[in-house]
Amino acid sequence: MVGRAADVCSGLSSGRVHWPGVTGAGEENGPPAAERGPSTDALGAAAPGAATAAEGSDQPIVSARDLRRRFGEGEAAVDALAGVTVAFPQGRFAAIMGPSGSGKSTLMHLLAGLDRPTSGTVTLAGQELTKLDDRALTQLRRDRVGFIFQTFNLLPVLNAEENILLPLSIAGRDVDRAWFEQLVDTVGIRDRLSHRPAELSGGQQQRVAVARALISRPAVVFADEPSGNLDSKSSDDVLLLLRHAVDDFSQTVVMVTHDAHAASFADRLLLLADGRIVHDGEGPRNAEQALDLMKAIG
Ligand code: ADP
Ligand code: MG
Repeated sequence: MVGRAADVCSGLSSGRVHWPGVTGAGEENGPPAAERGPSTDALGAAAPGAATAAEGSDQPIVSARDLRRRFGEGEAAVDALAGVTVAFPQGRFAAIMGPSGSGKSTLMHLLAGLDRPTSGTVTLAGQELTKLDDRALTQLRRDRVGFIFQTFNLLPVLNAEENILLPLSIAGRDVDRAWFEQLVDTVGIRDRLSHRPAELSGGQQQRVAVARALISRPAVVFADEPSGNLDSKSSDDVLLLLRHAVDDFSQTVVMVTHDAHAASFADRLLLLADGRIVHDGEGPRNAEQALDLMKAIG
């Protein structure tokens, strides 16, 4: 399994499939857990649902200060982010909404270390991303960040179980079998573990992707339109799973969505417009309230 995943990953690194935790072939595995520093130990070694070092403290798990991202130069320059300062405490579920082109994806990519800001800083699990070189950044993403994409991004040649375990295979980390079993039951795909993605419905594929995002007990899960390609029943299943991960596993989730109904599963709503945060508040209690807030910003 490990060898097979590694083969697949060298294919991935050539850019065929987007998998943020993977860089070029031949990258060594990360250091053993004991050498990864206190923040990794504190969070990474916690039992499912157990309190972690950051829990209860005021220390945000992800934060950004005066984040700016400019694309292009001169006349054609676009300020996708024009000064965003935001913090995400542990164990909370935040939704980011905003009109198309408002900077949602740019913000998520910067927070997750998939892109670098023009200026400003991002701190994730105690590490300032802007200070890390590409290799360290890749390792941090791999070990501390879970990703869920609109298009599922499962590896077609791996079955559901192998896809779930892929982040650990890539990192050379041991599988916590009890946690794996718990996740499999939580996402409800036990009878599909030996199936490949093509043999699964969209909803089942996304539930596999949710388990994959959670298997490494990341500091934060970033979800980019996780329900965007699903029918309403499967969409609710996935959103409820994220809600459950926050409530019962103290997982931190940051979700970008166009969908006011999806946003209503979160306990915080951020609205972006023209690269700035124009609303940051509790809720939304329901889709209507999220839509009203969206309308208010134009
Ligand atoms: P959203 O996700 O809210 O739709 P984005 O973050 O994708 O918005 O984009 C914000 C702005 O930055 C848009 O004007 C977009 O065209 C621009 N932009 C995003 N990525 C790039 C890029 N790689 N090159 C040039 N412009 C970009
Ligand atoms: Mg986008």
